[in-house]
Amino acid sequence: MSRFWSDHVVDLSPYTPGEQPKVDNLLKLNTNEHPFGPSPRVLTAIKDAADDSLRLYPDNDSTALRQAVATLHGVQAGQVFPGNGSDEVLAHIFNGLFRHGDRPLLMPDVTYSFYRTYCKLYGIACRTIPLADDFSIRVSDYVGAHPVRPAGIIFSNPNAPTGIALTLADIRAIAGANPDVPVVVDEAYVDFGASSAIALLSECPNIVVVHTLSKSRSLAGLRVGYAVASKEIVDGLVRIKDSFNSYPLDKLAQVGAVAALQDSAYFDETRNAVIKVRENLSKQLKTLGFEVLPSLANFVFARHPEHDGAALSRALRAEGILVRHFGIARIDQFLRITVGTQADCDRLCNTLSEIILKTH
Ligand code: PMP
Repeated sequence: MSRFWSDHVVDLSPYTPGEQPKVDNLLKLNTNEHPFGPSPRVLTAIKDAADDSLRLYPDNDSTALRQAVATLHGVQAGQVFPGNGSDEVLAHIFNGLFRHGDRPLLMPDVTYSFYRTYCKLYGIACRTIPLADDFSIRVSDYVGAHPVRPAGIIFSNPNAPTGIALTLADIRAIAGANPDVPVVVDEAYVDFGASSAIALLSECPNIVVVHTLSKSRSLAGLRVGYAVASKEIVDGLVRIKDSFNSYPLDKLAQVGAVAALQDSAYFDETRNAVIKVRENLSKQLKTLGFEVLPSLANFVFARHPEHDGAALSRALRAEGILVRHFGIARIDQFLRITVGTQADCDRLCNTLSEIILKTH
């Protein structure tokens, strides 16, 4: 086999997604899906669009979708870059914006683990910066002089899997101190209480914000995400996309996504319901003795001082409840628990309480 094969393919450790069980009798609190279904308007729009026109290729420019995103965020349609889920948007960003020889991409040591996979895949050097002791991103680590000029900076806000968010002032400081490199803010979970860095784009044209419809719009199955950035950056991403797959979004996804983005009443009602349950869940877990990090996402990150994270996750699974445990040293004690309905969270906490009592 060629050198390329052995360096890039055999050694590539693919991202391991959370389990998607083939049976439906498990309570899934492991991959941050929304507990309520998508807006009923999405289902109607998709049914109406499922006709003979599916024999034609879809709108290559996702015109209506880009316009719907632009209207929602108060930007121009030319500043919107859509893709098949934000994972695909991120793939184009890594491929197009971060490949600069030996210059490293800076990211927190604990963040969305896909970033490292993309670095490996695209041959991007990566320098991880430890989170502070309280698991927050320490802004000063990103604003000081770096030993080598970085290729860019990426982090999730709120961060995954901690759920802790930076303020817009923090993000402005990071972007302002690194004006000549892209600063990518992955806002997969921003709608559950944090502020979007889209508000900073006119001031900081090096910021690229990435959103998904998988979480707050409850459309993980439709695979739609997008980036919002300066027109120059989006034009570059479009050229990369067209060289790779010029029709990334299917017609039904485009139609469904537009309907979801336009139903602001349903969006507000369901995300507020999730936020309410998140606050209850945090309290319930604390009553059971867990330390719970302050989350602005649709999940909480919690550890018990006397119980091993891996063992708790296994015991929950045996009771039919899936949560996420990462086998990473610094966060090995933690469980990442998706906020479900209040009934889901009650079942989780009752089960945890029994497990804890049994193992005392
Ligand atoms: N970014 C973060 C931080 C995530 O947790 C996820 C979901 N795993 C994604 C991006 C990708 O989401 P999607 O591809 O469904 O849009």
